[in-house]
Amino acid sequence: MKRVYNFSAGPSVLPLPVLEKAQKELLNANGHGMSVMEMSHRSGMFTDIIEEAEKLLRELMDIPDNYKVLFLQGGASTQFAMVPLNLFCNTKKADYVNTGVWSKKAVSEAKKYGEVNIVASSEDTTFNYIPELDESKFSPDADYFHITLNNTIYGTRFSKLPDTGDIPLVTDASSCILSQVYPVTKFGLIYAGAQKNIGPAGLTIVIIREDLIGNAMDFTPTMLNYETHANSGSMYNTPPTFAIYVAMLVFRWLKDLGGVPEIEKYNIEKASLLYDYLDNSKLFKGTVVPKDRSLMNVPFVLPTEELNKKFIREAAEAGLVNLAGHRSVGGMRASIYNAMPMEGVKALVRFMEKFELEN
Ligand SMILES: *Cc1c(COP(=O)(O)O)cnc(C)c1O
Repeated sequence: MKRVYNFSAGPSVLPLPVLEKAQKELLNANGHGMSVMEMSHRSGMFTDIIEEAEKLLRELMDIPDNYKVLFLQGGASTQFAMVPLNLFCNTKKADYVNTGVWSKKAVSEAKKYGEVNIVASSEDTTFNYIPELDESKFSPDADYFHITLNNTIYGTRFSKLPDTGDIPLVTDASSCILSQVYPVTKFGLIYAGAQKNIGPAGLTIVIIREDLIGNAMDFTPTMLNYETHANSGSMYNTPPTFAIYVAMLVFRWLKDLGGVPEIEKYNIEKASLLYDYLDNSKLFKGTVVPKDRSLMNVPFVLPTEELNKKFIREAAEAGLVNLAGHRSVGGMRASIYNAMPMEGVKALVRFMEKFELEN
């Protein structure tokens, strides 16, 4: 069986042992004589799966008891609306940092329900850095403060969290959840679409401090109210059962590897290999300010658009696929999520060295 090295930004590579386990259990999961896809979400068989998924995620991220873990649908994009609908409960004001397309989309949803203050932006240079935050610009009476923790498209990440005091810090962690140790208690709410670092598309994880639940705006649709899902153990309606099952397998895989501190070390090694090569190359160039470089998404460029195209084409022929940058920025981007093995990054660097010699 030939598998490629898949550098896709999402949906993205999954751990091979997870896919093999899902394959093995596809027709007969855990001896039940049926696939997880065929189980009632209210059956004991499925309850075991969702409970194990939650337990493992709590262990992996060290999530305290006063936080709920919700298994939702609608992607991170639905959270752009759910966050303001549920958290605009006093002044209906929120602070946002604009670090790219996903931040902007979050801002435009929040503006429908309240007032948004853009604390800082890195739009002046196509979002290739994380802006310095001036605390005197924070709204002292905001209902929450929102950041995009890792900017998938541009390859930047917050390496230092803003100190928002008593104001709940909310983050879109879609492309960095579980990639490094983040202290959950620093956040009021963390949300992430699963398809980057957790599992298949269709599942969205929300980790929310309990005191932020139950104050939604009056007109909030039932399905968009965190209280609905918190009160029903994510079983108000049918959750994305198969995606939750695969996520559970990914959590088991990560725990067996030694958990988040271990994968963080591994991710630093992988990213360093690629960044070191970029820093020393005479042909390839990284596009992000070094101090703000992402561990997960590594964008880079060649001197001409023609060479970019040639590189992407020849890399794909060599089994290194999905290296084109996001359509809004061009160039190349290697997404090296938890499930990308070191061998994949080594193969990419070897290929880049060869390409550099030949061009
Ligand atoms: C991929 C991504 C999104 C969009 O997620 P959907 O699940 O497709 O809605 C939002 N934010 C970030 C940071 C992402 O990486």
